[in-house]
Amino acid sequence: MNIGHNVIALTIPLGPSEVHPVLLKDEDGLTLIDTGMFDQYDALIQAVKDAGEAPSDIKRIILTHQDTDHIGNLPALARELPDAGLFTHPGDLPVINGSQPMLKMTPERIAQLPEARQEEFQQFLEQLKQLKDITELHDGDHFPWGGGLEIIHTPGHTPGHICLYLPEQELLLAADELRVVDGNLAGPWDAATPDMPLALSSLLKLKDLPIRSVLCYHGGLYEGSPQTLIKSLTEAL
Ligand SMILES: [Zn+2]
Repeated sequence: MNIGHNVIALTIPLGPSEVHPVLLKDEDGLTLIDTGMFDQYDALIQAVKDAGEAPSDIKRIILTHQDTDHIGNLPALARELPDAGLFTHPGDLPVINGSQPMLKMTPERIAQLPEARQEEFQQFLEQLKQLKDITELHDGDHFPWGGGLEIIHTPGHTPGHICLYLPEQELLLAADELRVVDGNLAGPWDAATPDMPLALSSLLKLKDLPIRSVLCYHGGLYEGSPQTLIKSLTEAL
């Protein structure tokens, strides 16, 4: 779905729900933001093609954070697109390149998965170790991709979680800092957010931004301002 000038929201089914990686478009090719779960590679590639774009035009991949449903197809994409640049915040980089264990999919949790899934997961973790160097993104960084964007570090859901702000369109790519639930905008999901107080205080970084619409990885597009919600969630801080 085209959600603005240079911005395409992809839709990939995930269990009973769906997730929304994003393609940014400009004369320098495509920037993919997040990649879906690791057994969804074909669905991701199909979604790019359905959007009328060529997967081979992906020039760089930004990971908003370390969770498996965001980085799952990174190893496969990096193999298919060896020239694509990889980018993430240093807070999650050591997990994404496989040098530290995941925050949520701990060895104990992996051991609780069905056996076949455990194997898949271990393979995935091994593949992360083979990724080429990942470039660090920092709070306040600006890039020209998709007509111009700013990185906003919003830790709490994970230490290195980022949102991306596109000022030209007053669009926030919220990743997992905000969600759309039954058509309503909501804060981070507490069950998947180990440091909720930090995630809520990260919302304060968004409160002075002019935002006309919010794309959430879980729940999709919310056409409206998040400021009323942010105010109510951060009142007690
Ligand atoms: Zn997520």
